Amino acid sequence: MNDEEMHLHFEELKKELDGKISDEQLMKELNVYLNEYRVTAEAAKRGIKRKYGADGLSSFMTADTLSKKIEELKGTEMNVDITAKAIYVDRKQITVRGNPKTIVSGILGDETGTAPFTIWEGENVDLEKGAVYLFKNAYTKLWNDRVQINLGSRGKAEKAEGVRVDVPERTIIADSADTKIGDITEGSGNVTVTGRIMSVEERNITVKGEPKVVYSGIIADDTGKIQFSAWNNYDLKDGESICVKNGYIRAWRGIPQLNLGDKCDVSRVDDSFGEIELTSSKRTVAEIILAGGGLDLSVTGTVVDMRAGSGLIWRCPECNRSVLSGECTAHGKVEPVADLRMKLILDDGTGAISAILNRKDTEKLTGVTLEAAERLAKARGDSEIVAREITELMIMKRMTVTGNVLNDDFGPMMIVSEAVTESINILAEAERLYNEVEAAL
Ligand SMILES: [Zn+2]
Repeated sequence: MNDEEMHLHFEELKKELDGKISDEQLMKELNVYLNEYRVTAEAAKRGIKRKYGADGLSSFMTADTLSKKIEELKGTEMNVDITAKAIYVDRKQITVRGNPKTIVSGILGDETGTAPFTIWEGENVDLEKGAVYLFKNAYTKLWNDRVQINLGSRGKAEKAEGVRVDVPERTIIADSADTKIGDITEGSGNVTVTGRIMSVEERNITVKGEPKVVYSGIIADDTGKIQFSAWNNYDLKDGESICVKNGYIRAWRGIPQLNLGDKCDVSRVDDSFGEIELTSSKRTVAEIILAGGGLDLSVTGTVVDMRAGSGLIWRCPECNRSVLSGECTAHGKVEPVADLRMKLILDDGTGAISAILNRKDTEKLTGVTLEAAERLAKARGDSEIVAREITELMIMKRMTVTGNVLNDDFGPMMIVSEAVTESINILAEAERLYNEVEAAL
């Protein structure tokens, strides 16, 4: 690649990364991707953006902020202000990269319509149902023709004192549509789903101090499977087929779940699915990004990078969180336990996804055992050496990973349950990619 070409990619990335890394570091990254790993320019840019958390946020910072009504939102806004009433508010504790995090989600409404929202940095956010808020520097996405409002780390929800917003009385919930399970995304809203109960269990939980029974399990059709939760006892049995009218899709970190709430209608139907394959569903990265996440998905791609936090790491013996310098965020000073893991960035040509592999798979794929890693780190007096070594071993490997895909600020991330590398000739692959790059110039 010539200097001019390289410079163009550099400038584009620099703008999108907006100071997340230094010019020097960025040039180094680009150089490694293009000249050492020899991936295509597109794959290099995706990998670097995924690594530094800038994917999908392009031009977010440069766009002028606009104020919009909910009806005017297109699902492509990078920076928009919205004044609306919080119709429904929900708080959730999730774990991101081993650390607890709070997200606040719900539904916003104004005179023109309603839309679901998510506040990704919800730690100190306390939204009151029925109050009016100014969502500053929000961004929007479109899922199944439905606009979703998001507040990232640069956004803010401020109470709009004295502002009155009237949300017209109407069914906030849209009519449900017949949906194949494989087509359900986190923004599907109300759905009618026909499928076979693959498993169901009864659990006792406490909701706001009240004991409740929830019936949950997996329902599948010939296109996919999804977790469900029922809040009434429909006496569901393994293996029977049901039609759920007016179920509601809610997502937990991008994984859609089917809720059988009070408004839903459940009926037994004849089973027409035949043999349902309970194997994982093959997807492209683009499809995963579109769906927002999912259960037991499988994707094949090339390892283009390894994220920080890979290699030899240390965990709290109490809670298993990864700890830095022997300090757990929940348990203070602890005697940490060594572990191995990889956070790969996998590119399949349609996009890039992060994939976290546990010790077992890391050992299997790299041949580096935890004991060997500890010895190496000790001998060199440097635990980073392990990450560097295994990066060398994994880069440009083509592999198929299977697992649940969650979604956070950094985009889709698979918790890998199974990983298989394709034994291909690495040199031939490098040559193929090199030719691809050449052809693109
Ligand atoms: Zn701990």
